[in-house]
Amino acid sequence: MTSHDRPMESVLETIGQTPLVRIQDGVEDVRIYAKLESFNPGASVKDRIGRYMLERMLERGDVPAGGTVIEPTAGNTGIGLAIAAQQLGLDAIFVVPERFSQEKQQLMDALGAEIINTPTEDGMGGAIERAHELAEELDDAVVPQQFSNPLNAEAHYATTGPEIYETLDGEVGAVVAGCGTAGTLMGIARHALEQDDRTHVAAVEPEGSLYGEIVGEDRDEDEYKIEGIGTHDPSTNELFDPELVDDVYPVADRDAHDELVRLAREEGHLVASSAGAASVAAKRVARKIAIGDIETPHDTVVTIFPDSSERYLSKGIYRSFEEWSS
Ligand code: PMP
Repeated sequence: MTSHDRPMESVLETIGQTPLVRIQDGVEDVRIYAKLESFNPGASVKDRIGRYMLERMLERGDVPAGGTVIEPTAGNTGIGLAIAAQQLGLDAIFVVPERFSQEKQQLMDALGAEIINTPTEDGMGGAIERAHELAEELDDAVVPQQFSNPLNAEAHYATTGPEIYETLDGEVGAVVAGCGTAGTLMGIARHALEQDDRTHVAAVEPEGSLYGEIVGEDRDEDEYKIEGIGTHDPSTNELFDPELVDDVYPVADRDAHDELVRLAREEGHLVASSAGAASVAAKRVARKIAIGDIETPHDTVVTIFPDSSERYLSKGIYRSFEEWSS
């Protein structure tokens, strides 16, 4: 495991070992901790999978030295992969639907990646198709495909999970995390359940997303604004394993937004909407533990704050709920 109290040879070594900080607006007797993933060099949780996936793929020969990585991505994963590709001597091409955040596209470009935009109306499906077409055209290219690549969850099983247990001396009662690809939650959950199979595992999704359907709740497809988590097509989210999950917590856009504003104003955390949603859900879990609705081996809840609000300033994240969500 890496440590930060030594000189490092490259920015890749700074990935991970992020701080775990107590949420002050918690529940009496149940401690809530958030792991601050914006402390990674690309300022998100996705730096972990960028490094882990590419290192393993190079080792296995899935991509040759000096080859090309192509990924359909709207954001944080592109930045994480761009840093890793650059440091590992690979070229990076990202296929991004036009409507996605300009900040993220500028950062991928700054890191030396090539960006190919696909029409907004073709959605993420259009970007995925184009990425695979490009990979066919080049003979040294690989598409990591974070939504189906087990290395995504494995990165968290190998790093995020063990870091949490080490920092808290194993005193973890519940793990709560938002699910986009579900790599973060699946990796942490697998590690947590190996430590103690009574650990409560909770997934967080935006209200209107469909992860709840996988665990048997009916929910209509709807629009939501929380970024980075949720799914409208659970069948494509191959990493999500409902067997590992005790509960799915849907969080409304407004609640996630109120909480991210509160986290900045009261606790000094400049985090975005998926962290707001994670914090809302972590507090719900803590309340249930406090009143005995959930039994856990320890009175401690751990959640993940995946990235920083700075990446969403142009979307008016701190202006008002109406402006951000319009
Ligand atoms: N929050 C943000 C801001 C993200 O970009 C992502 C990744 N899509 C997540 C949460 C969810 O992480 P995962 O894909 O590991 O479920």
